[in-house]
Amino acid sequence: MIRIGSGYDIHRLVPGRPLIIGGVTIPFPRGCEAHSDGDVLLHALIDALLGALALGDIGTHFPPEDPQWKDADSRDLLRRTVALVQAQRFMPVNLDATIILQEPKLKPHTGEMRRIVGGELGLSTDFVSIKAKTKERQDAAGQGLAVEAWVSILLSGEKHDGKL
Ligand code: MG
Repeated sequence: MIRIGSGYDIHRLVPGRPLIIGGVTIPFPRGCEAHSDGDVLLHALIDALLGALALGDIGTHFPPEDPQWKDADSRDLLRRTVALVQAQRFMPVNLDATIILQEPKLKPHTGEMRRIVGGELGLSTDFVSIKAKTKERQDAAGQGLAVEAWVSILLSGEKHDGKL
């Protein structure tokens, strides 16, 4: 059977924090304000994976008030989420993501993001689409105050009884 999931995340951009998106550290004077490393793309991806299997959301599994997840590496959270998906006998088929950031330009980094994300999901880069766009200077992301990410993901699995 197949299942579809979608995920969204937004983080404020503040001085003195690293800008990490899709596992790539991008040189920039501001980064994501967050309890963890603030990787907006991986957080949206985690929510998409959990959503596809109706397993709740990132806050359910990795509560921000739990000190265990302070400054967490989002790739570690993603690995734990992939393990949950595998435990349900599902696997990713493909994903399509959009990152919204006014600056800096992300195009030079999307190839590396695709390799990193594909590596974590066991997918070749042909099945990992990561698009970047600005917000035409509108709203918080457009004014450089925030970064947003949207992810859609398709999973395929062995179960056909409609029960998880
Ligand atoms: Mg987040």
